[in-house]
Amino acid sequence: MFKREEIIEMANKDFEKAWIETKDLIKAKKVNESYPRIKPAFGKTHPVNDTIENLRQAYLRMGFEEYINPVIVDERDIYKQFGPEAMAVLDRCFYLAGLPRPDVGLSDEKISQIEKLGIKVSEHKESLQKILHGYKKGTLDGDDLVLEISNALEISSEMGLKILEEVFPEFKDLTAVSSKLTLRSHMTSGWFLTVSDLMNKKPLPFKLFSIDRCFRREQKEDKSHLMTYHSASCAIAGEGVDINDGKAIAEGLLSQFGFTNFKFIPDEKKSKYYTPETQTEVYAYHPKLKEWLEVATFGVYSPVALSKYGIDVPVMNLGLGVERLAMISGNFADVREMVYPQFYEHKLSDRAVASMVKLDKVPVMDEIYDLTKELIDSCVKNKDLKSPCELTIEKTFSFGKTKKNVKINIFEKEEGKNLLGPSILNEIYVYDGNVIGIPESFDGVKEEFKDFLEKGKAEGVPTGIRYIDALCFKITSKLEEAFVSNTTEFKVKVPIVRSLSDINLKIDDIALKQIMSKTKVIDVRGPVFLNVEVKIE
Ligand code: ATP
Repeated sequence: MFKREEIIEMANKDFEKAWIETKDLIKAKKVNESYPRIKPAFGKTHPVNDTIENLRQAYLRMGFEEYINPVIVDERDIYKQFGPEAMAVLDRCFYLAGLPRPDVGLSDEKISQIEKLGIKVSEHKESLQKILHGYKKGTLDGDDLVLEISNALEISSEMGLKILEEVFPEFKDLTAVSSKLTLRSHMTSGWFLTVSDLMNKKPLPFKLFSIDRCFRREQKEDKSHLMTYHSASCAIAGEGVDINDGKAIAEGLLSQFGFTNFKFIPDEKKSKYYTPETQTEVYAYHPKLKEWLEVATFGVYSPVALSKYGIDVPVMNLGLGVERLAMISGNFADVREMVYPQFYEHKLSDRAVASMVKLDKVPVMDEIYDLTKELIDSCVKNKDLKSPCELTIEKTFSFGKTKKNVKINIFEKEEGKNLLGPSILNEIYVYDGNVIGIPESFDGVKEEFKDFLEKGKAEGVPTGIRYIDALCFKITSKLEEAFVSNTTEFKVKVPIVRSLSDINLKIDDIALKQIMSKTKVIDVRGPVFLNVEVKIE
């Protein structure tokens, strides 16, 4: 905590001095906890749900009222709505099927099979029969069967399961049988039901919307088709409603998403539930795919279909594909990858990889950690000393009653060189999935590498770690180890850097895997010619 009164007094005496000196009160985070190795933690929404929410708000702003339509629709309704075309529509629907409930009696053979397993049936016969009957009648659920058989026979549930498998194989070999119920393939199936019921309850005109899941028995999923998608659908009912309302609503929705590039094309499909010449497709331009994508269809329901549902005014319906809109807004090229990213390859951004490059060894004790900074500064200042030369840093540490005098000697004995090698100030960057050491200046860099390194520096993510920083942490963490193990001297010698571990760096496995699988590189090669001798007394 700051000593506020002292600071204010200091500032009153000499503001400039106080301003500069209090800088040290703001302690820097330790290197592995500093940016870019720390990342803000926040949750992430799904683009489909975001689009649904935005569409809900867009509809509400246009004065629509939200409804939920039935998901399960009887095939009779499809016949009613589509007339002779119903089969074509039903072909793309999923029918709901269920397992039949076999009529299994308790014959003498079954009883003797159970008894062969060492279970006395006689006094439990009636209750077992009741259970089998209850299952057939539907008063007992399939997932309760094992438990109920076990209870009736007063046996363990493991034994109950054994009986079910061995004595009643009829339950195992069941094949699903389809019902006449379908999962809606578009919202229209539900609108007929909803609008029909509201006719006597709600004053006309009314504007309804619903954003919900639909199911399509597509032959194959592809970049713009899924077996299940969301339809953001609306229905406007009232006298005077016509195709112009469809155009206006489509424009109203799409323009709220910032689209100006869209077009209306009469639909060739000509579904029988729409009035002739009203069925229209809406296309929006996908800038990444560079193609026009169908995002919505609208039309005015046919008076024939409407009449069958007791609706005697025109109803305009528009169905907009949420996933298609999300694809365009979020610039996704494939709906499958957008909706289910977990099943596809995940690419770490350069920022994410940068957060995964860390120092391997860092001293824990604050005094030793702080010495690192001193060491780095001296090395940087004296890196160009002409050899033979040496740089000595001395420090005394007190741990309780023990005192340790440390002498760090950095040297270059060979004549005609510098104290440290030319790559010492290289900084680690992540660029285009690569982890690279980039020099401070590009003088003397081979032409073939120059362009890549320059781009890396301009567009890559800097880790804020130079070779000298990482190496000095290696020296001080070794010093800490020496204190603990009572060692009195050690040496560090790093002539040429070839890998991250040579400069005391490590990288998370997932980043490493990505680098390998995408044939990217970790290139930190460079001469540092670091020779250190440390003595502790
Ligand atoms: P397409 O010709 O692209 O298969 P469609 O004409 O069969 O689509 P409609 O029945 O008009 O589609 O459905 C309305 C909207 O629902 C479409 O414009 C589209 O945005 C969306 N949609 C339809 N089927 C799918 C699907 N399988 N996956 C994702 N969205 C779909």
